[in-house]
Amino acid sequence: MQRPFNFSAGPAALPEEVLSQVAAEMLNWHGSGMSVMEMSHRGPEFTSICETAEQDLRDLLQVPANFRILFMQGGGLAENAIVPMNLSSGGAVDMVVTGSWSTKSADEAKRYADVAIAASGDSSKFTRIPDPSTWALRKNAAYVHVCSNETIDGVEFHALPDLKALGCDAPLVIDCSSHQLSRGIDWAKVGLAFGGAQKNIGPAGLTLVFVRDDLLGRALPVCPSAFNYKTVAAAQSMYNTPPTFSIYVAGLVFQWLKQFNYAGKTGVAAIEQRNIDKANLLYGALDQSNLFENRVAADCRSRMNIPFYLRGDYNTPELNAAFLTGAKARNLLQLKGHKSVGGMRASIYNAMPLEGVQALVAYLKDFEAQHG
Ligand code: PMP
Repeated sequence: MQRPFNFSAGPAALPEEVLSQVAAEMLNWHGSGMSVMEMSHRGPEFTSICETAEQDLRDLLQVPANFRILFMQGGGLAENAIVPMNLSSGGAVDMVVTGSWSTKSADEAKRYADVAIAASGDSSKFTRIPDPSTWALRKNAAYVHVCSNETIDGVEFHALPDLKALGCDAPLVIDCSSHQLSRGIDWAKVGLAFGGAQKNIGPAGLTLVFVRDDLLGRALPVCPSAFNYKTVAAAQSMYNTPPTFSIYVAGLVFQWLKQFNYAGKTGVAAIEQRNIDKANLLYGALDQSNLFENRVAADCRSRMNIPFYLRGDYNTPELNAAFLTGAKARNLLQLKGHKSVGGMRASIYNAMPLEGVQALVAYLKDFEAQHG
């Protein structure tokens, strides 16, 4: 039986091969007689799972040696507090607001730091990213925060800003929750990257943090020790019990990705190419349609999260509902847009095959032929 195509924004679809392997290993991992859920996080079995996962992730993203990879908990929203507690020293923090998630990050950071909005895409209704040359960056900023892919608004930084070239020495912090591992990361431009695992990486409960060595050891006294990056790094993410099962599944996803081939490429380069092809296919269909539209400026469109709406007078509650009911009947699941913006959203993360996007495009065309 073919599984439906699942367009959830997160927790999201995982590669079927990984789910099958998890099922096969559920009761007895590698002859240990235990499920991974039942193992001590300090035992030799889980230690090997965790070390392999970290090394595979480091290889996949070519993480430089002066960055630590931390497996934490709390998700992206907790990082909105954990980052300022660790990096701001209670001083100036500059935030670039490009949609719902960076808005939330700015609001949370205000509790710990002197936050200024360096730029906002508000006036374009978050359909474009303000050009970095226009950002008002302060000389004394402890860091500059951007959300490199806005999951709700569907805007993505296709290149990270080069703060040094803008005359700013502060480290760049990126919330890459919803596109991490969909492409490479230009580490020379980044001080810290964080993201919840539940979109491109594995089950909810695991948060990935990549932090440059020189940013460790600056935490405010109020920072809980389990959220102090220096403490977590010193304990190799074992200061407290990490989300062991999520780390295990993430590790299997890393192995899947290492072997992933597409268009003559392997690994992250291959998945990036497939993500480009999937996004082009869907945006192309939306742009040609007289019934549907995506409103994001072409050079800021997310490859991962594609919000779309019925155009003008067609945009009625009844027709939106009919679209979603018809989608489900065709095994196209979880296409409802975020409640704050309405409409539809297709999240097409790494695990979504090209065939899933082809099936969605075919449905868009059929729906338009019937209702347009
Ligand atoms: N940042 C981004 C870009 C997100 O997409 C999300 C979740 N959708 C969050 C932060 C919040 O993450 P969490 O739910 O893991 O706290």
